[in-house]
Amino acid sequence: MRVQFWGTRGSIAKPGPSTARYGGNTSCIEVRSARGTLVILDCGTGAHSLSQKLMSGGAKGSRGHILISHTHWDHIQGIPFFAPLFVPGSEWDIYGPKGLGQSLREALAGQMQYTYFPVTLDQCGARIRYHDLIEGTFDIDDIKVSTHYLNHPALTLGYRLEADGVAVVYACDHEPHSRMLATGHGDITGQDLRHAEFINRADLLIHDAQYTAEEYPAKVGWGHSTVEYVVNLGHFAQVKRVALTHHDPLRDDDAIDRLVANIRAKSRENASSLDVFAAVEGQVVEITPSPEKGSARRAGELQAEMPIERAIAECSVLLGVADTKMAAALSKTIRAEGIHAKFFSNMDEARALIAKDRPSLAILEHDPPRIDGMDMCRAIRQQESDREHQLPVVMVTAQEHQARGAAAGVTDWLIKPFTDAYARTKISAWALRAACQWIRVVVPEDKKRRLARPPVHSRRAPMAQRGMENKRFSKNVINTDKSALLWMYCREIAPFETPAFSKAVGDLIARARKGPAETHNRPTA
Ligand SMILES: [Zn+2]
Ligand SMILES: [Zn+2]
Repeated sequence: MRVQFWGTRGSIAKPGPSTARYGGNTSCIEVRSARGTLVILDCGTGAHSLSQKLMSGGAKGSRGHILISHTHWDHIQGIPFFAPLFVPGSEWDIYGPKGLGQSLREALAGQMQYTYFPVTLDQCGARIRYHDLIEGTFDIDDIKVSTHYLNHPALTLGYRLEADGVAVVYACDHEPHSRMLATGHGDITGQDLRHAEFINRADLLIHDAQYTAEEYPAKVGWGHSTVEYVVNLGHFAQVKRVALTHHDPLRDDDAIDRLVANIRAKSRENASSLDVFAAVEGQVVEITPSPEKGSARRAGELQAEMPIERAIAECSVLLGVADTKMAAALSKTIRAEGIHAKFFSNMDEARALIAKDRPSLAILEHDPPRIDGMDMCRAIRQQESDREHQLPVVMVTAQEHQARGAAAGVTDWLIKPFTDAYARTKISAWALRAACQWIRVVVPEDKKRRLARPPVHSRRAPMAQRGMENKRFSKNVINTDKSALLWMYCREIAPFETPAFSKAVGDLIARARKGPAETHNRPTA
């Protein structure tokens, strides 16, 4: 696999003499498999130079895949200047995290509205398919792609690419869940452990390393990692090489040199074999298989594209928060994502709501003696001890209690003070995960792949063809509705749900939808 960095700067483009060596353009990375499959990771301003390279070879008939981590400006501003998208006869797939309200295409079209740009996304001449992704896996030709939510104040996906016997992981933008880890100390547990598992034994880890541990206290909650954390993570996850990227706009070339020199000096002291470097704009990294290969992550994972709209519509969040101001703010945040918020004031009410509504997520506050979220969490776990899937519990607290939280069954944390954007992202990610769990039982494996095919958007598609696509899509939706209704009915009558019961229902639904799904989900020509 061949990797080339076209943009390594974080947050905002920073051209000039002080950044000339490491580069001033924002995130963009070109990845090519040995067979020639082209994947572009993020489309910041660095995408312009990549676009020029592709155009110099003649972009007509070009074919490629753009994986967007999230739609913050520094990761998408190159799209309006990515010339191959405007060339008729080219074919591009654009992937990004699925939002609860807005589709990926709508989010990308936003920055190309009349007020901001003279050409709209609809005026792209290439044939473009948009893919709204959740956590899971999918294939791009010979490249296996896995996705994983990162910790950032916007719904953000990390990407793991596996091909040619190697694994490359791209994780931008991401802040460690535990603030202690950002300082370069503490144990990797909980959601940080999930992140480490995602990058496990990668041949190349390309990771956000915008800050240093010394700078971090002034940057808490900004959604970025520290160099110290990334190096520790690389050791822990047995990664072979680490490319530090998303360089802070205030970090000049000499400062990056000093950072890398310090890391290498410490590595020599510790006799570490981890190779750490700071990504340079234009740099090429060839990755070849080593005797110790990257771990496969394919087994048992969900497809990263699935029709989960009906499951999302059913989402609700249980709120056990005593601070009235915070409860009102969280409720507003939850409603902004189109999700229902349900309050409870004692455990009897909580138990009744959990049994009746099957919420997607519980947010509990821990601030004793006023409110004891740990006790509430333990009570919830006792109630659900015979269930296959646990209710995710996010604990709101002023201080991390990782060990006590793990013992009580806490899934994730919202450490005060937190921004509305952070809370909103965390709630969205858990609601989407819950929706996936919901659909996992409903749709058998072979159906997921066929249902995953997205509608094609192209300026060149005649109206009649677009009408056909709409008809096909609406039949799909009706088909999914039937499954959703049947599944909701089965859930109501089955508080005694078991894996065997779930499988029987899944088979029943699969048989019920077999005809329409096969007729209406053929790939478009
Ligand atoms: Zn960024
Ligand atoms: Zn960002």
